[in-house]
Amino acid sequence: MTAERRAPMLPFKLIYSEAYYLPIGEHVFPSEKYRRVRDRLISAGIADANDFLEPQPASDQEILLVHTPEYVQKLTSGTLSPREEMEMEIPYSRDLVEAFWLAAGGSILAARQSLSDRISISIGGGFHHAFPDHGEGFCMIQDVAVAIRRMQREEKIRTAMTLDCDVHQGNGTAVIFAGNRPVSVPQPSVAGLRQHHTRPGRMRGGSTGDVFTISLHQHNNYPLWKPPSSIDVDLPDGLGDGDYLAWLDSALSSGLRQFKPDLLCYVAGADPYREDQLGGLGLTIEGLKRRDEMVFRVAHARNIPVMVTFAGGYAVNVEDTVTIHCNTVIAAKEVFGVS
Ligand SMILES: [Zn+2]
Repeated sequence: MTAERRAPMLPFKLIYSEAYYLPIGEHVFPSEKYRRVRDRLISAGIADANDFLEPQPASDQEILLVHTPEYVQKLTSGTLSPREEMEMEIPYSRDLVEAFWLAAGGSILAARQSLSDRISISIGGGFHHAFPDHGEGFCMIQDVAVAIRRMQREEKIRTAMTLDCDVHQGNGTAVIFAGNRPVSVPQPSVAGLRQHHTRPGRMRGGSTGDVFTISLHQHNNYPLWKPPSSIDVDLPDGLGDGDYLAWLDSALSSGLRQFKPDLLCYVAGADPYREDQLGGLGLTIEGLKRRDEMVFRVAHARNIPVMVTFAGGYAVNVEDTVTIHCNTVIAAKEVFGVS
């Protein structure tokens, strides 16, 4: 193929495999979005085949850096209880296990690439509702956590920060990285911010260890129990672009004042979109792109490597979800394309 001989179009790598597809049948989670994002990026001339790297599945040993042996054993032997399977909200199969091991391998590769290329985007991953010992909310394996622990194990990084902008709180991430070192409750520069909040959100500070977790999410949404992240921003229903971006700016600035990460793991959920079926925030497609640009500009300016995963996205029109995810790649190209 002539495309194989062309120079890459992006100054970073996209991590993707056809096998990212989750075999879950008819489901609100549009698993075909991964392939659609890849196809759109190529057909729109944003990327070509040379911009993509194919990941290998994570090994069981890598999965065990985050998950308990009992849980991994249940997954690999197909012995989840009916209740455990119900809680995961996706139908168990061996193929699904393989897809999640591959998602974790994709995030490991994205983390590794980001350390050399400044940024890398996995066209998948971001399964932030997976806990060490069980899965929840369409998530079996916490791929981002596996990638962080793998990079730490290799001593490629010492610390990491997760920035979770999915509309749902990153409960699995919060539990996995719950540290015992208290941090001061963040005092973000929200004095001016609050003035244009008719229904202010709320920022809470928790604790942290070697991984600092930030989650911006809709308060009145799954999960009901929100275990404390290092910073949680509980956003009110219907919050629009301007207020959202102000909260994001505050949370990120506050986090980076308290913590110096060797790697930023950006969970770029598409579900804060105002037409999302499982979300209740009011962001526009343009607002979501500005969100991505803000995160990338901060990371670029501070020289912090960024790995990106896609997480949720349940727009009424799946093409909108695809657009939002493609815009994340375009935003990265715009910010990291200039040195
Ligand atoms: Zn979500």
